[in-house]
Amino acid sequence: MTTTAEYLKTLIRDIPDFPRPGILFRDITTLLKEPGGLRKAVEAMLAPFADTQLDLIAGIESRGFILAAPMAVQRGCGLVLIRKPGKLPAATLSQEYQLEYGRDVVEIHRDAIQPGQRVLLVDDVLATGGTMAAAQQLVTGLGGEVAGICFLVELLALCGRTRLGADRVESALQYA
Ligand code: AMP
Repeated sequence: MTTTAEYLKTLIRDIPDFPRPGILFRDITTLLKEPGGLRKAVEAMLAPFADTQLDLIAGIESRGFILAAPMAVQRGCGLVLIRKPGKLPAATLSQEYQLEYGRDVVEIHRDAIQPGQRVLLVDDVLATGGTMAAAQQLVTGLGGEVAGICFLVELLALCGRTRLGADRVESALQYA
């Protein structure tokens, strides 16, 4: 019998050496184009949080948006966008983080989260955890409570969850 996780893994395509030599890119476009693929992925991601009270779901640009939007519809929550620098039109809070080579920045609207609101953070892939750690700081920087952190794919070898502290971290699919 095929489990949902096994089925979803068959829909994800591996691209060696993208975007740089040595990176095995987990391409979710093949999952997205399969009828029912996105729905099953979203259901699997939301399942661990079925009993968790949520006010907002925050997606990280850009593949995080694709997953976070149907999750927010399903849960009846607001949707918040965490974006690359210079994309959000109103006043923002920025957080810099370290990449393998150089640094990057993520931003959120300062009025996106009210103090005490419970936020589920969403992205497609957990690699080193640097992007999500920065997103976590944006949420807490605005006084939000991180109710959980949720990925479609977790790359276990990179130990990204160790950078995410005590918050609850769940992934629907794990790769060694
Ligand atoms: P990190 O900050 O290292 O956890 O990287 C996370 C971000 O980079 C996510 O938004 C992913 O979309 C992307 N990413 C990193 N590694 C991969 C990979 N092997 N396959 C697909 N996306 C990746």
